[in-house]
Amino acid sequence: MPKKVVLLGATGSIGSSTLDVIRRFPEEFVLIGLSGHSQTEKIKNLVDEFSPPVVCLPEVPSWAHEYPRTTFLSGERGLSQLASLPDADMVVIGVAGLAGLLPTIEAIKAKKHLLSANKEAIVAAGPLINHLLDENTQQIIPLDSEHNAIFTLICRFPTPHIKKIILTASGGPFFRRAPTAQTTVQEVLTHPTWSMGSYITVNSATMLNKGFEVIEAHYLFRLPFEQIEVLIHPQSIVHGMVELTDNTHIMVASPSDMRYPIAMAMFYPSLPPSGDSSFTLPGKSLEFHPVPHERFPLLSLAYETGRLGGLFPLALNALNEEIVSAFLKGKIHFLDIERLIITGIERFASTEESRLPLSFESLAPAEAKARGIAFELLGEHSHDV
Ligand code: NAD
Ligand code: MG
Repeated sequence: MPKKVVLLGATGSIGSSTLDVIRRFPEEFVLIGLSGHSQTEKIKNLVDEFSPPVVCLPEVPSWAHEYPRTTFLSGERGLSQLASLPDADMVVIGVAGLAGLLPTIEAIKAKKHLLSANKEAIVAAGPLINHLLDENTQQIIPLDSEHNAIFTLICRFPTPHIKKIILTASGGPFFRRAPTAQTTVQEVLTHPTWSMGSYITVNSATMLNKGFEVIEAHYLFRLPFEQIEVLIHPQSIVHGMVELTDNTHIMVASPSDMRYPIAMAMFYPSLPPSGDSSFTLPGKSLEFHPVPHERFPLLSLAYETGRLGGLFPLALNALNEEIVSAFLKGKIHFLDIERLIITGIERFASTEESRLPLSFESLAPAEAKARGIAFELLGEHSHDV
């Protein structure tokens, strides 16, 4: 019997890769529910292709009557219902941003086999999610390529034998040459190895994406920050490694294609039966470099905010979302991103919200405060220029 899969965020980049895995292994997986947020036409095409019994959109679409055998859910409540669908064997969260948090919680409470790429929820609310996972004796299988690699390794090499885990980073477009005042949005969006959405591609260029991944790893694998290292690996073939107590390094290598970690996670604890046979190692050189931290101050800031814990990681995420969005709209320069985020975190640290204990109730006020600070900074910036 194929496993029944619910996919949240089916129209996005992670969603498309997950659908490809389902298409490739129709005897193993069947899609029984999907969600999308804005691309209604794309969702309609997916309903035509997969005939899922349940679909969730922000609102029930005008064409819903054309599909009498499909139940249409809507809004946040619909997304939570979809994440805890009684029939589902597996829930895949490919939603971007904090909108992924509520469905993550619902899927854990419903004891679903949970696969998630949604790093924002884990970064913002890691301790709350871990508490829920423990209460429900559940786990999250990570889809993010680095975390998926580490997850695979930790299954074989338990944490007492691990000296540290190493997340690799391509270094983005500005590892070998620094950005300048002339750097354009297009240059920033030209990622050397991965093809991803524009927000995450900008975060790769500042290396804050790797910073978020360090925080994500801290919560997912419950390791202190001292045991989480980042190395630049421009080829993006090795995604993660563990250094054991005897200094042996064990690595996971695969093409830079999200369908690999997604298939690994979907087949877990089994293994995918096939992949891309053209992927071979002869002729490839693998380089590893220390991170030039002075070049990427947002990576250091992520370690700092991760260590501060509480609502700081959430604030870092919210500030970054607003400031990167301003960059993508051409309102600020690439070099302004770092400066505004560093100032933003300093401002957040002086607010009452930053001192609230982390709880489901304190997330919304802290997020609003951080976004407010971002708007203030962007307003001040537009007066400066
Ligand atoms: P994307 O922007 O391509 O897709 C996001 C999906 O979420 C879309 O289906 C969209 O409809 C949905 N969505 C957006 N806002 C929503 C809201 N408010 N409510 C409900 N649904 C909403 O993003 P992506 O690149 O696929 O990334 C998804 C997640 O995976 C992010 O957390 C990202 O950090 C993580 N991730 C992505 C990659 C990658 O290669 N793209 C790699 C690792 C991790
Ligand atoms: Mg990643």
